[in-house]
Amino acid sequence: MSEIRLQVQHLSKSFGITKAVRDVSFNVNKGEVHALIGENGSGKSTLTNMLTGIYTIDSGKFILDGKEVHPKNQVEANEEGISIIVQELGTLSGLTVAENIFLGHENRFVKYGIKNTREMNRQANELLKKYEFSHIRAEEQIDEYNFEDRKLIEIIKATYFSPKIVVIDETTTALSQEGREELYKQMDRIRASGNSVIFISHDLAEVLDKSDTITIMRDGSYIDTVKSSDVTEDDLKRLMVGREVTGD
Ligand code: ADP
Ligand code: MG
Repeated sequence: MSEIRLQVQHLSKSFGITKAVRDVSFNVNKGEVHALIGENGSGKSTLTNMLTGIYTIDSGKFILDGKEVHPKNQVEANEEGISIIVQELGTLSGLTVAENIFLGHENRFVKYGIKNTREMNRQANELLKKYEFSHIRAEEQIDEYNFEDRKLIEIIKATYFSPKIVVIDETTTALSQEGREELYKQMDRIRASGNSVIFISHDLAEVLDKSDTITIMRDGSYIDTVKSSDVTEDDLKRLMVGREVTGD
């Protein structure tokens, strides 16, 4: 059995004259938290947005468990076993908690053309209990909850179906320490189940602490992939900016 979960092969993407991602290749293994770091604008989100169906691919490919994937939207990505948690609010106002958790997957609850809301709420409440977010109710409007709780709901939405790979894009920046701990717990759970996380974060101490492997990007290009246990924060800074960094 191969250890490789995802192969990123010669991926490129431009926006007009901006070459956001330039011929990037690397592998993500099974059961690892793989950090993706680089300065602002280095192409991290553009790369992962192509994996999760948010952006189209210009050239190159993603191979997940030996099979090429090119989801056209996030629902298709979910069906391939790929999900994402973004920095911004990823839940939709005007819907209930349960409707948000199962957004795009409502068909699971439709029988003879009728949506079984009670069953959907039941399953959502079961998930909320399993994740120990029992203060959140599936039937409530999402707008009743604060930013932090809405991020917790997003964590459920992105992980309840045991995706093969979860992208966490700068999510921790927006979270309190408590929210971070919750996210770390889920990252550990994903890793323990043999699935993988692509973890994008600006916090290099957090990256070193929480990831197994780190890929560095600079100006849209791939720089290197290193083991977290082999490097220091200074090494990472140097790789990110391409020269010796002094002071802070
Ligand atoms: P990072 O996530 O590493 O901060 P991004 O992938 O967001 O970097 O951005 C890489 C480059 O692509 C930047 O120059 C950014 O301005 C540009 N870019 C990203 N998304 C878009 C977009 N939707 N339209 C135009 N330019 C974009
Ligand atoms: Mg980004």
